Amino acid sequence: MDDSHTLAISAIQHYAYCPRQFALIHLEQAWADNRFTAEGNLLHQRVDAGEPEQRGDVRYERAVMLSSQLLGLRGKMDLLEIDSSQQPARLIPVEYKRGKAKTQDWDRLQLCAQALCLEEMRDVSITEGALWYWETRRREIVAFDASLRAHTEQVIENAKAVLTSTQTPPPTEHKRRCKACSLIEQCQPDIARLDHSAEYLQELFKE
Ligand code: SF4
Repeated sequence: MDDSHTLAISAIQHYAYCPRQFALIHLEQAWADNRFTAEGNLLHQRVDAGEPEQRGDVRYERAVMLSSQLLGLRGKMDLLEIDSSQQPARLIPVEYKRGKAKTQDWDRLQLCAQALCLEEMRDVSITEGALWYWETRRREIVAFDASLRAHTEQVIENAKAVLTSTQTPPPTEHKRRCKACSLIEQCQPDIARLDHSAEYLQELFKE
């Protein structure tokens, strides 16, 4: 697969959180860690380092590489549980997260994208996955229903459109998200919100 036309699965969560954050990272190659990203990196390093293991009927595979030709995705999943107690075996993608469960679908979209890749790669049907939250030590079951699948595919399409346009979108209207964003220095959202020059130029050259 030509990597220039694929999207990192992790980018889906960035886009859903804030399209500008997505563009800063994946278009402008900006990155900065804050406490949240540093703790997340540490958690994933620990998870990825684990060896595959079998416990009863369930096999646990870690840091599983993923890709989708159909959707143009590539990435990695933290954990794949393969439950052979039923036939065909049930595949359950599991993603570890630093914080706690969110009302928005950011984490669910990423997990669903992993499932879509797995379905294509292994020619299986996956009905649900799980998000495991380190802060609350809770496992949230996520059903891959039609609505979540459609939302995931829409976000993938929108994110790719930003890459194709090479235009960094304006700051999110959800100002509270900026407080937790590691890219606030590079983004300067308050200044960007006041800068209407891009809109002015667009208007100027409109036919
Ligand atoms: S600081 Fe706010 S607007 Fe800027 S990238 Fe982060 S979340 Fe988006």
